[in-house]
Amino acid sequence: MTERYAVVVVGGGAAGLSAALVLGRARQRTLVVDAGEPRNAPAAHMQGYLSRDGMPPAEFLAVGREEIARYGVELVRDRVVEVAKGGDFAVVLAGGRTVRARRLVVATGLQDELPAVPGVAERFGRDVLHCPFCHGWEVRDQPFGVLGTSPNSVQQALMVSRWSKDVRFFLHAVAEEELSDEDLRRLAAAGVDVVPGEVAGLVTEDDRLTGVRLADGTTHTRSVLFVAPHAVPRTGLLERLGAELHETPFGAYPVVDATGLTTVPGVWAAGNAIGFGEQVVHAASGGYRAAAAIVGDLLMADLDAALRV
Ligand SMILES: Cc1cc2nc3c(=O)[nH]c(=O)nc-3n(C[C@H](O)[C@H](O)[C@H](O)COP(=O)(O)OP(=O)(O)OC[C@H]3O[C@@H](n4cnc5c(N)ncnc54)[C@H](O)[C@@H]3O)c2cc1C
Repeated sequence: MTERYAVVVVGGGAAGLSAALVLGRARQRTLVVDAGEPRNAPAAHMQGYLSRDGMPPAEFLAVGREEIARYGVELVRDRVVEVAKGGDFAVVLAGGRTVRARRLVVATGLQDELPAVPGVAERFGRDVLHCPFCHGWEVRDQPFGVLGTSPNSVQQALMVSRWSKDVRFFLHAVAEEELSDEDLRRLAAAGVDVVPGEVAGLVTEDDRLTGVRLADGTTHTRSVLFVAPHAVPRTGLLERLGAELHETPFGAYPVVDATGLTTVPGVWAAGNAIGFGEQVVHAASGGYRAAAAIVGDLLMADLDAALRV
């Protein structure tokens, strides 16, 4: 017999664990399937989550896993590879197990594809950063670089100027003609120096970033480099279920209502699976909302079924 759960949560990051906590406490038989690759794994600390500011991401998730276990939620380290609809959902795991679920929470996060500059991937989350809200305070007043990967990088260069007065915007893949007069005026007003030319690599000493090297051989002393990853939302399962997506500047994400319900009945989504800007606190909140909505939805389904007999 295939095991049947009220809810299967796909993904055990902040969004999935938060949903699981609420579902467990609401006495719903819940399984979390987690492949164990949370987005912020490269960072030593998680910032900006009230009461958890500075906690290591792995510790945050370990506490979450302990909390859901108290309420009988099961968690397996595996990957959901397929989901099929037909009454219940049939959820297929890479390890070979198939389970059934009345409702689904997709909390699979997203993947960051980093610019192909040597050293960037290795240093990401340390002194190559993407999010000043996550790390800006820790590196405040240091010499910043910003790697231009698209005209949107202007916004990043302007934003990080709130954390340091010494910002150089390396145009790299951005042609000078792509910058509007307004961009140039704003960059000047923010005190950001614009540096033309391609970035060829990073300079490090004792495993710390000390500079940015251009293709012409010049080196700029910098101890922090901001980059804009290309976000790849993990929407494969949702797309195969027929969920509608909407385009954003950071990729295509599922259309959801205020509770995270997708356009597929019975399937909710939360966290970075629904948007690039979902920080940990938002992801946890989204998981809670989805779980509470599911508890109400299952209640009504059960009452309707009872009234039909
Ligand atoms: C370097 C870095 C630093 C950051 N620092 C901060 C910070 O300081 N503060 C902050 O608020 N935010 C920070 N963020 C953002 C933070 O990572 C996200 O807000 C958060 O991870 C979103 O949680 P989530 O649960 O949606 O996704 P994730 O944490 O990415 O969790 C998704 C989980 O789903 C699993 N999964 C994916 N597909 C499947 C599948 N098919 N089957 C089973 N499991 C699957 C993944 O392996 C992963 O474990 C940072 C991001 C980065 C990249």
